[in-house]
Amino acid sequence: MKNSLILFTLLVLASCALIAGCSSSRSPSSIEMWAGEKGKVKVLSTTAMIDDIVAQVGGERIAHIALITGEIDPHSYELVKGDDEKLSLAQVIFFNGLGLEHGASLRYQLEHHENAIALGNLVLEKNPDLILHADKEIDPHIWMDISLWSRIIDPIVDTLVRIDPAGAADYRSNADAARQKMMEEHSAVYRSLQNIPQQKRYLVTSHDAFNYFTRAYLATVDEKTPSEWKMRFDAPEGLAPEGQLSASDIQAIIDHLIKYHIETVFPESNVSRDSLKKVVHACKQMGLTVAISNHPLYGDAMGPPGSDADTYLKMIRYDADVLIEAWK
Ligand SMILES: [Zn+2]
Repeated sequence: MKNSLILFTLLVLASCALIAGCSSSRSPSSIEMWAGEKGKVKVLSTTAMIDDIVAQVGGERIAHIALITGEIDPHSYELVKGDDEKLSLAQVIFFNGLGLEHGASLRYQLEHHENAIALGNLVLEKNPDLILHADKEIDPHIWMDISLWSRIIDPIVDTLVRIDPAGAADYRSNADAARQKMMEEHSAVYRSLQNIPQQKRYLVTSHDAFNYFTRAYLATVDEKTPSEWKMRFDAPEGLAPEGQLSASDIQAIIDHLIKYHIETVFPESNVSRDSLKKVVHACKQMGLTVAISNHPLYGDAMGPPGSDADTYLKMIRYDADVLIEAWK
């Protein structure tokens, strides 16, 4: 009896191990699942914010994956092991453009892929007046204004229809639904931020990711056209987070904080807080109290899966809610 019990236990353990082994070898990584999808258009997007919109437009007809996920800086992203496979398997690559993806190895691949679409550049061609410049460079952070970001939908549809004409009706109806959802959320974010008194709506973050957000949601109506909204946003680091601050950069931010009575600055989820810490430290030495918010904003990256900012629209809503909570 005792022996048969031991034998039974061993058999159970062995089959558990076998099942575990099988299931781990059978559970493919997201790249394997993506590559293995039969009969679907294989789409690679550089950022999660693009992938989110592509997924909505493509629906069931596409297999989609993002190259740069998690808390990684898209400005300086360089290819890592496995990326070559994704780039070569992709039938189409959607990227932000406008100078965002400037890591040399990724940029080279984007420039040489036969079907890489720079969505931001297409938005710029159609609407040059909507695209911002900072320090004489194009500001690539167009996803930070939902209505502006909705303008990538048309070039996504055009591209998918060209590759998969049979899906045209699906892509167009998915696009209409996605656009409507985006415009509703754009209005909701606008209304909720405009409820905050205008003397409070001055934003300072780590790098220049929030110009479009500020113009769209923090500015008063009168400030939009003469670019007076620009006084409502400042950051110690430039268009790409580089972490190098001069004494005059720090002084400029301090002058800005004093001028607009700003008491809280906001870190960004994927950017080092060092610059903000230097600013706050310099403020302290001058007898000024400025705090770094405990709630980082999402600028260049969405939140992790399962978080309150794990889709594109949730990310923008999350940022709005953090600011409303801090400023109310
Ligand atoms: Zn950025």
